[in-house]
Amino acid sequence: MTNHQNSQCPDIRRIAVVGSGVAGLSAAILLEQQNHSVTVFEKSRGSGGRLASKRVAGGSADMGAQYFTIRNPEFRTFLEQNAGNDCFGPWQGCFGFQHPDGHWQAFPVETRYVGIPRMTAISRALASDIDVRAEVRIDTMARKDNEWYLTDTSSRHYGPFDQVIVTAPPAQARDLFTNSGLMNLASALDGSVSAIQPCWAVAVHFESAPGAEFEGMRPHNSVLSWIANNSSKPGREDHGQWWVLHATSQWSTEHVETPMDQVVDAMLDAFREVTGCAAMPDETVAHRWLYARSDSNDYPGCLWFPAEGIGLAGDWLSGGRVEGAFDSASALVTTMSQ
Ligand SMILES: Cc1cc2nc3c(=O)[nH]c(=O)nc-3n(C[C@H](O)[C@H](O)[C@H](O)COP(=O)(O)OP(=O)(O)OC[C@H]3O[C@@H](n4cnc5c(N)ncnc54)[C@H](O)[C@@H]3O)c2cc1C
Repeated sequence: MTNHQNSQCPDIRRIAVVGSGVAGLSAAILLEQQNHSVTVFEKSRGSGGRLASKRVAGGSADMGAQYFTIRNPEFRTFLEQNAGNDCFGPWQGCFGFQHPDGHWQAFPVETRYVGIPRMTAISRALASDIDVRAEVRIDTMARKDNEWYLTDTSSRHYGPFDQVIVTAPPAQARDLFTNSGLMNLASALDGSVSAIQPCWAVAVHFESAPGAEFEGMRPHNSVLSWIANNSSKPGREDHGQWWVLHATSQWSTEHVETPMDQVVDAMLDAFREVTGCAAMPDETVAHRWLYARSDSNDYPGCLWFPAEGIGLAGDWLSGGRVEGAFDSASALVTTMSQ
């Protein structure tokens, strides 16, 4: 792929974005609004990253982000203008967390939003006007005469680009920089890599409702950190009910190599222990997130290396949530424009 737009107009930059999660898509849209020429590279088949839904019988289950907040009014405006109002809405559920002594307390009152009819409806809408190259895993980047050339794992080449934005989780970003001989950038990510924790996610289907007080709950449990009635989200028209279970970071770390069927059994046992539900699910689906959430409290917002023309954005740089991914991308685009 070649792109010579920059030689005609120096104000219009050719920018590569690695990753099409919320951070990558937000950065791409905001940069295109400044008339830059943006190409997004995504290693997976679809966009969305950890805003992920898995196909299950009768529909889909959200295996990654469960809901998101809109505390920053700029995020609402961005979503409304670039994704539209139809693909997301409030999840009108009851939510509770469990104290160590076992009693349950409702979450603080706050509107919790979800994609409709699935989480990935949002990323699909955001990606609709963006040049996203799917199933392209960027392996190396090399600079020649102030221009960047990217190479994927199938040895295909892309470029030239004036600047590159990397929105992969820090371990994958560090691999990319290490492969490219950018050791100063790679070592800047060491602390962030160790702060990212894995998470086992399991979706289970019950023919009849298992019965639980809350649609979303954070139990005090050594195995499970989150249990949700996915079918209670708006726009899901499931027969029976799909529930999504997330394991704690510690349990997921200890069981990162445990066979999937054993993980499902252990998480189901914990689900029964927490909810008292004796029903057997008739279907299960599991997913292992190697890089799920950051437990760091150090959030610089974004990273920008002007001498190299390389920026980093992602949730792990700004609060570790969907909204943080947008905030980080927005902060990076502002920094790059100064
Ligand atoms: C189990 C789980 C539960 C969560 N629950 C919540 C929640 O309830 N609320 C909330 O707000 N947040 C939640 N989150 C966090 C939320 O999902 C993330 O904060 C957000 O989706 C991160 O977006 P991002 O764009 O920064 O990164 P990602 O979504 O990870 O996007 C990075 C993208 O880069 C791609 N990529 C990586 N390397 C390469 C490469 N070399 N070449 C090309 N592409 C590459 C990846 O495939 C991915 O698509 C949860 C996450 C998980 C895993």
